[in-house]
Amino acid sequence: MKKVLVTGGCGYIGSHTIIDLLENGFEVISIDNLLNSTEAVLEGIYAITGKRVRNYTVDLCDRDATLQIFSAHPDFVGIIHFAALKSVGESVLQPLRYFHNNLNSLLNVLQCAQDFEVPHFIFSSSCSVYGNSSALPVMEDTPWEEAQSPYARTKQMGEQIIRDFSVAAPFMRFILLRYFNPAGAHPSALLGEAPSNPASNLVPVITETAIGKRPEMRIFGDDYPTRDGSCIRDYIHVMDLANAHTRALQYLIDKQPDNPCDVFNLGIGEGVTVLEAVHAFEKVTGQKLSYRIGDRRPGDVVAVYADYSKAARLLGWQPRYQIDDIMRTAWDWEKTRTYG
Ligand code: UDP
Repeated sequence: MKKVLVTGGCGYIGSHTIIDLLENGFEVISIDNLLNSTEAVLEGIYAITGKRVRNYTVDLCDRDATLQIFSAHPDFVGIIHFAALKSVGESVLQPLRYFHNNLNSLLNVLQCAQDFEVPHFIFSSSCSVYGNSSALPVMEDTPWEEAQSPYARTKQMGEQIIRDFSVAAPFMRFILLRYFNPAGAHPSALLGEAPSNPASNLVPVITETAIGKRPEMRIFGDDYPTRDGSCIRDYIHVMDLANAHTRALQYLIDKQPDNPCDVFNLGIGEGVTVLEAVHAFEKVTGQKLSYRIGDRRPGDVVAVYADYSKAARLLGWQPRYQIDDIMRTAWDWEKTRTYG
């Protein structure tokens, strides 16, 4: 059985990816320090797949503890490195913490991968590496603009570190996956996003407002130069995103591509405004949302959406879910979730 290390396996995207990996015949080991996550997700994974996944509660910044896990599992066929701090706003307030955590953990995992000759590596990157790009939709070779937050800069730097490292590690192959706006939940409603801090991303804010966890929500600006004045994003269902990871890993294993470090956009190629997202939620759930138009949120880009044709061409990946499915599954999860 092909054994994969998933770092951040108890997090939102990591846990959904584990499901897709298990369903495609991989064995999974997780490392997660549980800082912003819970091992309760492992029960959700078990309920969906019938398979138990082991998590090591270890901080990847701890080199010795990380090395010990690699020593116990010297046979990883690949690593999918999700573990990172990911709150844009928090990163503005605590930049050093973000640089320390996101970069040191990456360096340690890369060093272990080299020491144990793990041949395949997939990195969670983000569309935030493009900054405030005026070229839409963004392609993988669209030049980067200035990072809008320390978080975004850790992703730019992470990509650059991996590119440099790939030159010196010719036995390894790397894929950088640039996520647009992941949202939604597993269709079983047994697994979904469970922010331990108050949610700040749009879809969990919508579902938390609808269920009454917050009295109302704010639309951050309606005076942008877009069709209804609110910002445009490319919302991708988390199970589509999960499947892209499995395909990326399988692509590296099957094809052994010449390019040591390749990059793929993962969005569905459709820009949706904040107000359209709110109305999609109201339509598919029948819930009326209490919202107010507020000020612009600092650091928000006006519009960003993906050209994903490269992932379609090389990975055979196609999104199966649209914004309505995202809202439906996120709401089903919100109504039943027992943690987070
Ligand atoms: N947004 C909003 N109200 C909220 C949360 C988000 O209007 O309570 C908007 C935000 O300004 C952005 C879009 O929703 O235009 C997506 O924001 P999110 O934080 O989910 O993702 P981002 O694109 O910033 O990574």
